[in-house]
Amino acid sequence: MSKNISAVKKISRNLWWSWDTEAKEMFKRLSPLLWERVNHNPVELLRHISSDELEARCSCEFGSRIDKVTKRFDEYIAEKNTWAANHAPELVAHPVAYFSAEFGIHESLRIYSGGLGILSGDHLKSASDLGINFIGITLFYKEGYFRQYLNHDGWQIEDYPLQYPESLPVEKVTTKDGKDLIIEITIAQSTVYAQAWSLKVGRATLYLLDTNIPANEAHYRDICSRVYGGDQNMRINQEILLGIGGVKLLDALNVEPAVFHMNEGHSAFLTLELLKKEIELGLSLDEAKEKVKSQCVFTTHTPVPAGHDRFSRDMMHYIFIKYVTQIGIDFEDLMRLGSEDQNNTNGLFTMTVLALRLSRCANGVSKLHGEVSREMWKHLYSTDDPNQVPIGHITNGIHTKSWSSGFTDRFWRKHTDSIEDLFSSRESAEAVLSKVSDSELWCMRYRLKRNLIDFISRYQSNQLYHQHQFTPYKPSDSSKSVKSSLSPDVLTIGFARRFATYKRAPLVFQDLDRLNAIINNSAMPVQLIFAGKAHPHDDAGKEYIRQIVEFSRRPQFLGKVVFLENYNIGVAKRLVSGVDVWLNNPVRPMEASGTSGQKTVLHGGLNLSIMDGWWCEAYNGTNGWSIGTGDENDNYDEQYRMDAGRLYEVLENQIIPTFYEHNDQNIPVKWLKHVRNAIETIAPVYSTDRMVREYTLRYYLKEPRI
Ligand SMILES: *Cc1c(COP(=O)(O)O)cnc(C)c1O
Repeated sequence: MSKNISAVKKISRNLWWSWDTEAKEMFKRLSPLLWERVNHNPVELLRHISSDELEARCSCEFGSRIDKVTKRFDEYIAEKNTWAANHAPELVAHPVAYFSAEFGIHESLRIYSGGLGILSGDHLKSASDLGINFIGITLFYKEGYFRQYLNHDGWQIEDYPLQYPESLPVEKVTTKDGKDLIIEITIAQSTVYAQAWSLKVGRATLYLLDTNIPANEAHYRDICSRVYGGDQNMRINQEILLGIGGVKLLDALNVEPAVFHMNEGHSAFLTLELLKKEIELGLSLDEAKEKVKSQCVFTTHTPVPAGHDRFSRDMMHYIFIKYVTQIGIDFEDLMRLGSEDQNNTNGLFTMTVLALRLSRCANGVSKLHGEVSREMWKHLYSTDDPNQVPIGHITNGIHTKSWSSGFTDRFWRKHTDSIEDLFSSRESAEAVLSKVSDSELWCMRYRLKRNLIDFISRYQSNQLYHQHQFTPYKPSDSSKSVKSSLSPDVLTIGFARRFATYKRAPLVFQDLDRLNAIINNSAMPVQLIFAGKAHPHDDAGKEYIRQIVEFSRRPQFLGKVVFLENYNIGVAKRLVSGVDVWLNNPVRPMEASGTSGQKTVLHGGLNLSIMDGWWCEAYNGTNGWSIGTGDENDNYDEQYRMDAGRLYEVLENQIIPTFYEHNDQNIPVKWLKHVRNAIETIAPVYSTDRMVREYTLRYYLKEPRI
């Protein structure tokens, strides 16, 4: 293999490329068409290109590009003078083991469902950038999360295409003598075997456990087929594999983590395996609990009691009765660890309770969510005063480089050496922005919106094709009008996220006449773009999708309200960069943080949001808009009407007039002031670089520094 080919292959096998604009460009140039077809997966791309072609083209076309990318990659991997080396050397010597049921790293790796996964992926990438020795643990879901289709009624259909290891940058983990590394876990009366795979994400490693191997009984082979698939029994099996399997894997690899981080309660069974190890060393249960507690930290993500994983006593008994004897505790001891009331172990076993009891610190994911969590769990700490509850908060962020790569990244780098300068502090953002003129900023907005509209046009041709396969609709008519109607001159509002009902996707349709007047105002028109998946079991969420699709087909909204199927990281990247306004209208305080609105800001988009999650602390009066002031009404319908009314008001009186107010040079100067303020105040703060630094200094280090 020539030097160039092996360099290209090497880059393709570390997800670092996914946040390096030039590396991405290198793969895309090999074949722009194939690049789209393989969903931006370089491993798959290279399987479709012969080594003869690669050899020929690398030597003349790509040589210097490959050299530059490789040099940057090698320097990145070898860098010793990192933030962690300077601020947390302990975490260079020993790794952080970060457990999460999903990781959203790139659209080509479908092992995530939504925000929790994106957060894990972004956490992993920033930990790598900061030089923290970092290991992620998750499951290898061969079917991943579903691919969403809409049928001609606008009803969501789920499809589960398989992901093959040979098409992904994963490697089998092997033992010293070259055999597959297999770990064993106990579930009910059975021994279940799991194979481990590894994946490189910059300097960090992600391990994926996989039970789909011949050694297992058939029903255990399916444990990791689907992200959050199946029933409660599947759920508990997945969580045992993740938590207990994950600790066993680290043992098998001889890794001694400095700290175990449970990202959400799904992985909390890891504490049981840690208890087992201490008890085997001779500690009493109480001593073992203290020891385990000193090793673990926990992040909760769910602001409503019903959202937390709970298992019945019967199920716990069936699943754990053999395992507790292996730990050396009795079943009641186990139940006490996860019961909200330790004197009554006949109720449900709650994963969050287990995690809270066996962590040295815990946090919510925004300031408001911290408050909500302290209130929600105060009974565990026998207090009525939420301020006595030891749950803090660290507000979520995004991996800036992943969410700004491509056109935006190149735009900013015309004005600054690296995007890190722009987003490292408010002052540096101001300094960079002062070099960017309004007309440049406005030109960038147009360009990004044009990219989005072109993308939608291509994307919709596919979507309409299979939606209309069996329908009485006239596909050619409606697809033509859809394509011709979206315009980059028009104020474009985006709404895309999981269709959990609390996010209230159809809120803007509450008063159809009023919305019609807004959208079809010929002097100041508006267009709306929606996307999102409902969980396969969530019929109410699917009904929301159906309603929006139905609205989008009404004559007054046709081509002005669009629903894009199969929301995922790839679609998200297009949407957050193209829209002018990102809409977020959940029931407060149910959005623990939310992060998608943070992505929009990097591209000069503005947020319009309920005062919930991260927005509650980020909104300053000029960097976007709020819907309401954060007051809550116990009556759901009344709150719905009230929030819809306020949403229309802000649109009609503030957002739309500001967007269309142009100066003599045809530039919306006031609008761009908002954009500048948003970039300066939001981008430097709501990043996972800031977030992971906080986790490190407050929670990962044995002696907190802040
Ligand atoms: C960012 C992102 C999310 C999380 O968005 P929220 O604001 O938390 O709803 C979910 N899914 C995808 C694909 C994303 O990119």
